[in-house]
Amino acid sequence: MTAAIDVHGLTKRFGGGTVVDQASLRVDAGRICGFLGPNGSGKTTTLRMICGLLIPDAGGGTVLGLDLGHDRQAIKRQIGYMTQKFGLFGDLSIRENLDFVARVYSLDRRRARVDAALEQLGLATRADQLAGKLSGGWKQRLALAACILHEPRILLLDEPTAGVDPQARREFWDQIHDLAKQDMTVLVSTHYMDEAERCHEIAYIAYGRMLARGTTEEVIAASGLYALTGEGPGADRLAREIEGLPGVSLAAPFGTRLHVCGPDPDALRRAVAPWDGRVHWKASTPTLEDVFIDLMQNATDNSVVVN
Ligand code: ADP
Repeated sequence: MTAAIDVHGLTKRFGGGTVVDQASLRVDAGRICGFLGPNGSGKTTTLRMICGLLIPDAGGGTVLGLDLGHDRQAIKRQIGYMTQKFGLFGDLSIRENLDFVARVYSLDRRRARVDAALEQLGLATRADQLAGKLSGGWKQRLALAACILHEPRILLLDEPTAGVDPQARREFWDQIHDLAKQDMTVLVSTHYMDEAERCHEIAYIAYGRMLARGTTEEVIAASGLYALTGEGPGADRLAREIEGLPGVSLAAPFGTRLHVCGPDPDALRRAVAPWDGRVHWKASTPTLEDVFIDLMQNATDNSVVVN
């Protein structure tokens, strides 16, 4: 596998605080990597360093074999970056918006590029609709179309589906997978666990530090967490009582059942034993959300450290 993104030690400081702290990330060509982490953990800053918009204070690496330090202009040309706030002209049609973007970037073969992007993202039949009248999901699609006009080899998508309904999110992800099949490499930040599970692999960052990396299954296995599901009358109401007991890192109602997890199976079992009379406990698999909450709880906030 060739690495499309291979960066290491990326560090960025703002106003004396370290917001990205020696982050390393490798994403192979044609893979979809989900980038997760709480708000303010440094995802956007990392994405902006990878696409050459921000210069790291330390660290480096390559993007498509180009050096992050010396080839930033060449890197930018090969990347499609979709920010959280993309600007569309509501009173222009879908086609006109794409044509406008193509003009701004002085792209050649404008008509052919716009047609190809419309086709690729299933927008051809709506090409003449006003962008301002589109639903959130279709607007995202248009924004994605605008990102691929210059035929990039990497897409960096910053929370592309925030606020979009589940059906539109699903369709958006189908589009991302179609692009990956054509060898596009995608690094996409998201807060949605179902989206994380649609990625080939994930990276989790908190307080500017990369804390987990791998496939969903690998990240769950590496967490060393164990989980139990409790079923019985009122099991779901025990969360507050059980959470925080020794050996329990998290307790949450899943419908009428209770989901608990912790780092030691025996300690976890002992913690819930007092409710054995009314609740039946069964071993279950920790969720990605369990793992992220646990990582967060154990991470230290270095964002106020002055370097
Ligand atoms: P995320 O995308 O994970 O929400 P960001 O990368 O946007 O996180 O932000 C990480 C931290 O860096 C936040 O505390 C944010 O306020 C700070 N930050 C981001 N950009 C700047 C900037 N240009 N100047 C100062 N602080 C910034």
